Amino acid sequence: MYDVVVIGAGPGGATVSRSMAKLGLDVCMIDKDTFPRDKPCGGGFSRTIIDEFAYLKPRAPDFMKGVAKVGVIHSPNRQVVLEGKVDMAVTLRADFDNVLFEEAVSAGSLPLNGRRAKKVIIHDDCVTIDLAGGKSVQGKVVIGADGVTSMVARETQLNKRWPSSSISACRVCEVPASTQDILDRYTDDLKYHFFANLGGQPGYGWIFPKEDTINVGLGIVGTHAQGLPSKFDAFVRFLKMKDLLPQTSDLSGAEGALVPTAGPIKQTVADRCILLGDSAGHVSPLTGGGIAYAMKAARFAAHVVASALENNSLDAVTLSKYQHLWQSHFGDEFRNQLLAQKIFTSPFTDLLFHIGSKDEKIQEIVSESMAESSDGDLDVKQLALRTLKVCLREALRL
Ligand SMILES: Cc1cc2nc3c(=O)[nH]c(=O)nc-3n(C[C@H](O)[C@H](O)[C@H](O)COP(=O)(O)OP(=O)(O)OC[C@H]3O[C@@H](n4cnc5c(N)ncnc54)[C@H](O)[C@@H]3O)c2cc1C
Repeated sequence: MYDVVVIGAGPGGATVSRSMAKLGLDVCMIDKDTFPRDKPCGGGFSRTIIDEFAYLKPRAPDFMKGVAKVGVIHSPNRQVVLEGKVDMAVTLRADFDNVLFEEAVSAGSLPLNGRRAKKVIIHDDCVTIDLAGGKSVQGKVVIGADGVTSMVARETQLNKRWPSSSISACRVCEVPASTQDILDRYTDDLKYHFFANLGGQPGYGWIFPKEDTINVGLGIVGTHAQGLPSKFDAFVRFLKMKDLLPQTSDLSGAEGALVPTAGPIKQTVADRCILLGDSAGHVSPLTGGGIAYAMKAARFAAHVVASALENNSLDAVTLSKYQHLWQSHFGDEFRNQLLAQKIFTSPFTDLLFHIGSKDEKIQEIVSESMAESSDGDLDVKQLALRTLKVCLREALRL
């Protein structure tokens, strides 16, 4: 029997597997895919992650595809543009996830790839995981890092199903491009673009330029996402018309994917079970960014599980230390991002963009928070106060 069975070897699963193997635990890491594997994603994350997870530094050449230094946010009516300095690393998920996977394996986790976990049964003294094809694996604890459609969340009843208002449906494509095409349009600052509430729908479109690809995507809240492929095609036509995308761009690789965008689920632990990353809803409701949160939650989970195993106490009450840890470190961030999401999808968004265009500080706060490049919390209060101040300043000028 393994100490821990981790289901899913994405950023959350690979990070928790590595950390626990480093702590001397016997870890089995199961994924339905074989690595390297791709995952539909924008591939942007705060550069501070590479400092925080220092073992990634020497591996950076294997996954870094540039750093976006400027963010451009377009208002819903396309009349106003906010622009600010950012520091967002860009990567290809096939490369980034493979580095995390390799690090987990070289730390001692045992990979079981190409095997889908079908069922989780929690017993009093262990956990059994049935795999497609007939085999089963046992552990003292299971970690569900199996993404937005988590089987572990479903089987443990921690999250039977996301309501469609709590997830966003996305369409994304990594478009091959020449260096010249990229420099011409996005400069060597690799300017990224965000388009708020495209076509009046709650969600956004984006362009993340990279070394030799342009990542183009559109995400819309599930309740409004019907006809997403044709909305994505219209977005691409719009980008080409504005010359924000080369006319000859090949978008045949466009794929669909889901991401949770209403904050975390209530309970992320059960007896002998922890959920993390997308399976727990650890994603910014404002940007759909979840790579960093999955990795941070993974580190908390590893320490809590190691100490619970040492004390042979693996019930939900003991494991809830993990829930307290992530809540105290970034629970408030999700609440603020959700509030900001509501403001950005309100009928006042164009007016707010107009006010923001009069002030550099507002532009900086907005573009940083959309890029996931600020290390701390999005300070909605600071943003609101600054907005008020700019309104007053403009009014007094009249
Ligand atoms: C279109 C799109 C764009 C995004 N852009 C960004 C971005 O720019 N920046 C950012 O930070 N985040 C972004 N995100 C969110 C980000 O992709 C996720 O938050 C992140 O991947 C979460 O990591 P994870 O390890 O929890 O899950 P995942 O990366 O989804 O990994 C889950 C793993 O579990 C495996 N798995 C699933 N079910 C089973 C099973 N039953 N048995 C075995 N294995 C299983 C899968 O194969 C997968 O490898 C985006 C998401 C989408 C959909």
